[in-house]
Amino acid sequence: MSSPLRRTVRGMRDLLPEEAEHMRLIEMEAREVARLYGYREVITPLIEHYELLAAKIGEENRKRMYVFEDLGGRRVALRPEFTASIARLVSTKMVAEPKPIRLFSVGSLYRYDEPQFGRYREFWQANYELIGSSRPEADAEILSLSNDLLKKTGLEDYYFKVGHVGVLRGILSEEGVKEAEQNRIMQLLDKKMQDEALNILKKQASERCLETLRRLFKVSGREWSRVIKEMNASVEGYEEASSAVENLEAILNLTSDAKMDLNVRVEAGFARGLEYYTGMIFEVYVPGMDIALGGGGRYDRLIELFGGGPTPASGVALGIDRIMLAVKGRRPGWTPTWEGLRVLVLPVNEEVKGKAMELSSRLREKGVTVEVEVMGRRVSRALSDASRRRVTHVVIIGPKELREGKVVLRDMKNKEQRTVTVDEVADMLEGLQSGSSRISL
Ligand code: AMP
Repeated sequence: MSSPLRRTVRGMRDLLPEEAEHMRLIEMEAREVARLYGYREVITPLIEHYELLAAKIGEENRKRMYVFEDLGGRRVALRPEFTASIARLVSTKMVAEPKPIRLFSVGSLYRYDEPQFGRYREFWQANYELIGSSRPEADAEILSLSNDLLKKTGLEDYYFKVGHVGVLRGILSEEGVKEAEQNRIMQLLDKKMQDEALNILKKQASERCLETLRRLFKVSGREWSRVIKEMNASVEGYEEASSAVENLEAILNLTSDAKMDLNVRVEAGFARGLEYYTGMIFEVYVPGMDIALGGGGRYDRLIELFGGGPTPASGVALGIDRIMLAVKGRRPGWTPTWEGLRVLVLPVNEEVKGKAMELSSRLREKGVTVEVEVMGRRVSRALSDASRRRVTHVVIIGPKELREGKVVLRDMKNKEQRTVTVDEVADMLEGLQSGSSRISL
């Protein structure tokens, strides 16, 4: 094992320049989707009271929180998700805000998960919450903006796995299964441990209930109208569960009417680990990757739990790290800055160093990426180093040319160079910069 001075903590990663730039690009796209849908950004703290974060996160995630005592003796934790902080905000500082409230957050989260492909202990999410509406249009909006963001990042073959917590919870409630027990069962179902869930229920639920669940667990598919019909037939006689199916149908109908062109797979037995969901839930997947790129759903009671009065809400968290993995770091039309236009301004001697810095500033004002030579290298050394570092153009400043207001512009690709005026070089590089194929928002 190498020295702690030379490695990151297990589960933590360094993002090297190209990865960092790609991550920020997805973040920018997420911010753009927020703007288009009218979601305002809020920035909440990385550290919150343990009680707030632990309240409804679910047993699995609770065990994985980074909890510690700060120097003032407070029991605090690193946030494992945004939703608890947003619920706190909405039930306190934003309580008088007219509804609906649309909020966006982006940042890092911390869970002591077992590190593996796409699972880190520090990861990034783009998070959207639509607060104040219990209507299907709100859930459909959350699906729609998730779809828009995924499309923007260049992904094509992703699909939404959709379910409804109200169906399973409705049945269990009618059977008199207590909430804590329901949570346990939902955790098992989240891990696809359906037999274990049924075993627990054997002691406390009717045979009819077990039969209904067994039937529901088999109901899934891409043609959602057929799946909804089968769900309806399975839950007959369970009133709450039936209205949950109706609600899910209304949401899916809206996505069709709005021509969202969502790739949906409805699964009647689908559950999510977070305890606070009350309605439609979903996760996003791409073929060949069995970890979700994002997940969300309706949580109508969380804000009330924090003292905010009854406030229905729906939201989604999209995992930026996993989106990066799914698009494999590259996509058509994206050139990392490192590979775009990069200019080196190179003074040939000490005398023109100041001029080199002055011209660099002038070029930067025109939006050009400019590095100035700082290693005191001679021209030939500096040129060979520049091509190794993928510099595209070098502006060579020599005292003789400068006396005539001129510099040498060298194209590193075809190795051609010519003497041009300072004004010309600025205009030429500005033109190349705006014509370069970088995605900008
Ligand atoms: P959740 O908050 O559990 O609903 O997760 C929402 C999204 O966050 C997931 O779909 C992932 O994309 C991402 N995510 C959750 N946990 C991790 C993790 N340990 N590493 C990377 N991404 C994660």
